[in-house]
Amino acid sequence: MKLKEQIQKTPKPFVIAGPCSAESEEQVYETCRTIAENGSTQVLRAGIWKPRTRPDSFEGVGAIGLPWLVETGQKVGLPVAVEVANREHVELALKAGVDILWIGARTTVNPFAVQEIADVLKGVDIPVMVKNPINPDLELWIGAFERLEKVGISDLCAIHRGFSVYKHPKYRNVPKWEIPIALRERLPNLPIICDPSHISGKSELIQEVSQKALDLNFDGLMIETHREPAVAWSDARQQVTPKELKSILSELILRTTVVSDIAEFPLNELRDKINQLDDQLFDLLTSRMRLSEEVGELKREHNITILQQEYWMEQIASRLTKGPEMQLSAVFIRQLMDAIHQESIRHQVKVMNMKKD
Ligand code: PEP
Ligand code: MN
Repeated sequence: MKLKEQIQKTPKPFVIAGPCSAESEEQVYETCRTIAENGSTQVLRAGIWKPRTRPDSFEGVGAIGLPWLVETGQKVGLPVAVEVANREHVELALKAGVDILWIGARTTVNPFAVQEIADVLKGVDIPVMVKNPINPDLELWIGAFERLEKVGISDLCAIHRGFSVYKHPKYRNVPKWEIPIALRERLPNLPIICDPSHISGKSELIQEVSQKALDLNFDGLMIETHREPAVAWSDARQQVTPKELKSILSELILRTTVVSDIAEFPLNELRDKINQLDDQLFDLLTSRMRLSEEVGELKREHNITILQQEYWMEQIASRLTKGPEMQLSAVFIRQLMDAIHQESIRHQVKVMNMKKD
């Protein structure tokens, strides 16, 4: 059965678990055996070649680790997945009998590398999972799926692992949930798995991120699991033990997309009220933009620039201070103000450039 179909058939979440890196035959086997015994995991993972940010970090055991994982999978009866970043990795993984390949975030970002992988996979029947590129570029992510589809790989799956930013206070890679949501809009039949480990960067955040992924209707989770995270050779802070994995999975609240008969009436009533308020918001925005046009006319008459930076910064600051009492987040206020400002500028530009009679 195709991976895609298996993901769709498995009650949510479909789980991929295993160590960040394969370190020794025993570590791979012991970790994966316990994961398999605990149940609830459908695919085992382990990194063989590790794309590390800095040299002199552990860069993976290399091809020697492939049989450790493949044999473990056979012994415990689960398919196994590895990351591939170039032609050689793909050839070695296929030869070793790996069941599923995945393309990592640092590879998806590079169309040359993705094309090289696609070229070796021409005519091969294997599932490929594609992680999002490290930068929040939906087109680049979609481009990787297109390159694989063009060579005949149809069993595809996306992995959302967050996006790299400089020093984020909470996440190792910010989730920017709107991007996988937009991916779902563009490719509705593609399963999407969330990787809370690389989003979180620390094990204590994995429960929260996993729950959010399920509440956003993701199909599954990829969770880095190590028999002894504290001594892991890579990503020690974010890995969990098989026991912790079991507890994370058992604590997840599973919700349904189906609205029950009992919920339907009150839900519709609330939605009607919300729609009425949204209509009012749009009416208000329309009136507001008419005033922007009057402002534009005045600025044109008196030859004043459209952008009045200082005035606008004051407006934003004053809204931000009111944020807590309105129970609106600073990020939302900023995004809303920016959107209103851009639209206002568009209206003013239109007025400015109108020919005087
Ligand atoms: C990994 O899954 O081990 C990995 C390297 O992830 P990413 O490509 O998301 O950084
Ligand atoms: Mn990792």
